[in-house]
Amino acid sequence: MRIGIIGTGVAGSLFLERLRGDRRFSLQGFERVAEGAREQAGTGLNICPNALKALRLHHPAGHAALRAASLPWRRWWAGLADGTTLLDLDLLDVAEEEGVRLRWSDLYGLMRAPVADQTRYGRTLEALEEDAQGRLVPVFRCDDGTLAREGGFDLLVAGDGRYSKLRELTEGTPEPAFFGIGMTRLLVADEAGCPFDEYGQWFNGNNRLLAYRLPRGGVYIAGAFPLAAGMDFTPQMRTAEHARAMYLPKDAAPCPAVAWMVDKTCAHIADVHWARLQITPLSRSAADGRVLFLGDSAHAMVPTLGQGATQAIEDGVLAAAVFLAGGGVAEVAALRDPRVTFIREFSVEATDSMLPGADVAALTRAKGDAPFLEKLRRAYTDVPEAVVTSRPSERIASPG
Ligand SMILES: Cc1cc2nc3c(=O)[nH]c(=O)nc-3n(C[C@H](O)[C@H](O)[C@H](O)COP(=O)(O)OP(=O)(O)OC[C@H]3O[C@@H](n4cnc5c(N)ncnc54)[C@H](O)[C@@H]3O)c2cc1C
Repeated sequence: MRIGIIGTGVAGSLFLERLRGDRRFSLQGFERVAEGAREQAGTGLNICPNALKALRLHHPAGHAALRAASLPWRRWWAGLADGTTLLDLDLLDVAEEEGVRLRWSDLYGLMRAPVADQTRYGRTLEALEEDAQGRLVPVFRCDDGTLAREGGFDLLVAGDGRYSKLRELTEGTPEPAFFGIGMTRLLVADEAGCPFDEYGQWFNGNNRLLAYRLPRGGVYIAGAFPLAAGMDFTPQMRTAEHARAMYLPKDAAPCPAVAWMVDKTCAHIADVHWARLQITPLSRSAADGRVLFLGDSAHAMVPTLGQGATQAIEDGVLAAAVFLAGGGVAEVAALRDPRVTFIREFSVEATDSMLPGADVAALTRAKGDAPFLEKLRRAYTDVPEAVVTSRPSERIASPG
């Protein structure tokens, strides 16, 4: 079976790496960035314990490599901008192992290196054609401006992320839903004087700072504040004055962590990355089962619980496990879609305290109560050890 993987980010790389070496599959990855490119966009990220569990069970070498490139993430602290504690959770109370925090550039480097020899770089998917056998032929724009075709594929796997071109070409651009929240991300290289280490969230009203330290020095700071749905960031929002107004309490002194983060944000305001909190509808396949969506191309979600790349990791290794067990597109959907639907709904639910007018203290404290913790335990541990399919092993792709 000839499989083309469009986009070797998180999900695409893992899927390719897990299937390589199996003679039932002829695999080729395509990636728009140049070989060795190390994007800084996104700056830092935290990956949840469930992704580590998926790797531990299905890709132990990947698990070891991710642990080696990252710092452990064990504690989730949340409180007010004056330092009042609302939640202080030990992740090991609800998970089998710690999560991790690392740099985006390190994650991409880690994912892409093992599949570099099976990836053509500088190839941006632009169009789709069909060959005489009814197989899909991806058409790429190369870095030098020319178009390239690499023949027909029995299956194309979309690993090309939130703005997936493969999804757009096969079923149109998905309509995102916005939540009325603007988000900022910043990587601060100089951690001198930083008064915190692990994952923390500091609320000033419904405005929130989130931060943690990264490997090799550096601190990741993410901000969130109300931004009416349909509205874009104004020039006034992209200023130090706006950051101070959003995150410094009016009637109390900020705690040292908030004071440090606001200082750094103001000093590096030009480096801040801006995004709107949004979600796109879940879709797993298109073109009569000849296209499989993985990761963000299938189910871009709100980042509230840090489950975006986390689910892309689950998708990559578990979809590969399904194929190795003789299943195909339909079996991937059956295994993954109920799980992803639960995670997406839970992530939206957990956004409650950031919505304008919400009772931050009550809603944050409730995240330490049994109903929320039970869901968190399910999110962090409900990863299958074995993937069983009843399908004959020669039948991999499935229609519909
Ligand atoms: C503000 C914010 C914060 C986040 N923080 C976290 C976090 O802390 N933890 C977490 O788990 N997740 C986080 N995420 C989510 C995370 O970024 C994504 O869920 C994750 O990167 C999805 O992985 P993927 O493999 O599906 O796609 P990507 O990682 O986006 O990879 C897509 C790949 O496809 C390539 N590509 C794209 N288009 C084409 C094309 N036309 N042709 C060829 N190649 C192409 C790209 O170059 C890239 O290599 C955050 C997201 C946002 C917006």
